[in-house]
Order: sequence, then C-alpha cells, then structure tokens
Amino acid sequence: MKATSPKDRRRLIFSVCLLLCVLTLSLFTQKTSAAPAPDGWQWITCDVGQGDAHLVRTGEHQASLIDTGDSYSDLDACLEWAQVERLDAVFITHQHNDHYGALDELAERYPIGHLFTSAHFDPAHAPPDIDLTQLASSDEYTPELSLGTDVQVRVLWPPDDLSRIPGEQGSNALVNNTSLVLHINVGGEQPLTVLTTGDLEEAAAGRLLASPKNLEASVLKVAHHGSRGSGTELISATSSALALISAGRGNDYGHPHQDITNYLEQHGVSVARTDQSGSIALELRNHEIAVTRERK
Ligand SMILES: [Zn+2]
Repeated sequence: MKATSPKDRRRLIFSVCLLLCVLTLSLFTQKTSAAPAPDGWQWITCDVGQGDAHLVRTGEHQASLIDTGDSYSDLDACLEWAQVERLDAVFITHQHNDHYGALDELAERYPIGHLFTSAHFDPAHAPPDIDLTQLASSDEYTPELSLGTDVQVRVLWPPDDLSRIPGEQGSNALVNNTSLVLHINVGGEQPLTVLTTGDLEEAAAGRLLASPKNLEASVLKVAHHGSRGSGTELISATSSALALISAGRGNDYGHPHQDITNYLEQHGVSVARTDQSGSIALELRNHEIAVTRERK
C-alpha cells in the first residue's frame, strides 16, 4: 500500500475544507434568503412599496388582509414570507390604487372568504362573485366583527353620511378621509392591539377624536404613509408604544414627513418603517412587542 506523502495529505485536507466551506456558505445563503416570518407572528405590515397592506393572523397559515397595495408581486412575496395560504377576509380602507390596486389579481389567485370595504368604496371596483359588506360607524353604533377564533375588530370610522366627512367633493382628501379606521385585538396567549387608519387626514382624525370611541392601542399604523397632513393628534390619542409606517423606498412624496418622525421620537414611540426594513412582523412576547424586520 502506497503511503500518502505530506503534500498529498495537505491537498486532501485543503479539498475537504473547501467543500465544507462551499456547503456551509450555500446553507447559510439559503437560510437567510428564504427564512420566513417567525412562527408566532400576530401582525405583519407588508412591504408593498408606496402603498398599504397588512396581515392579521387568524389561524394556522390563515390571515385577514387590510389593503392590498397596488403591486401583486410585492403582496405575493409578503404572503409567502408570512406563510399564509388562506385569506378569510380582505378589508379595503378606501378607493385609492395604492390600497386596492392588487385586489383583482389577488382574488384570481387566492380564495377570499369575504370582502369588507369602507361604506364609500364603489362595489363596482370589487372583483365579481365575492361577498362584500360595506362598513360605516357612528357615535351611537360601533360595528364589531370576529375573525377566526381570536381576532376582534371594532369599526371606528367612516360615518355613513358623506356630508359628515371633511374634504371637498371630488378631492383626494375626501377619499382619504373615507378610510376605514379599525381597532383590532389579535388574541392568543398575549393579545396585541393595533389601530389602523388607512390614509385618514388630520381634519377627519379630529372628528373621530371628538367621538366617544376608545382609540388606545399598543401599536399604531400611522395614517397616510406618515404624510405631514396626517397630523399628530391620532398619535397622541392612541398612546402606542410602536408606530408602523408603510412607505416606498425613496418615494417622491417625501413620506414619511420629518414632522411626524420627529414627533414620534420626541414622544418616545418606537418606529418600524417598510422603506427601511421591508416587511415587519409583530408578536407580543413577555408583554413586550417583538419586532422582526425582513431586511435587517
Ligand atoms: Zn395611500
């Protein structure tokens, strides 16, 4: 039997090391590029560029969606990250493309249990053959919905009567102010409360705040992508520990506005932004909100 020379041994050791390095590297890259959202997530704000889309966990591989954004491929990537296979309900806050533009394509590819929209969303813009309920709220009556086994939704805005909504007829401001405002309690071992506000502007927020409704929530989805016109009153009324801002990277609107981010910082509210972090998953653990960012 031929003895291996020291040179051959060095070559063999080098080859084995190289193979191990390649294997380790490929496993590592697979893991980092394909790592899904953490198993216990209760809420996910999807990175859909300049738009809004949020997932509320309602069961195993099951969620409700609030707005769709206008890019189906971005939304689909988020549904995959969240490992969602069924949508028991979709909510559309208002009739602007960055909030419902991907709805038709979504309905073609995912079974949707029920569609809920603002009372001022035209049902002609909804996909055909889908059960639709328009939602409105008043001082006297706050609709409440249950989703899955553990999620409760209170509908806080808009009023049914368009004349009670601020904004000139035909203006973008009026459409923004028809946004659904939802107070969501995501149950489980430790319930997470979220106030989500569509693109509500300051004038409508003022009217909502004048109503007797309780807006306190541990998480606030900041209105209108953090635009200056969304104001700061809602932020102070919710007393939230965490603010979510959905905005496109390098968007032309200057969202979020510095007045809003400064206000949040000055009031000790933590901020998570899709333009900086990609999609954002939340889970209440040991009475603290655990935030997982898709991009670190
Ligand atoms: Zn918007």
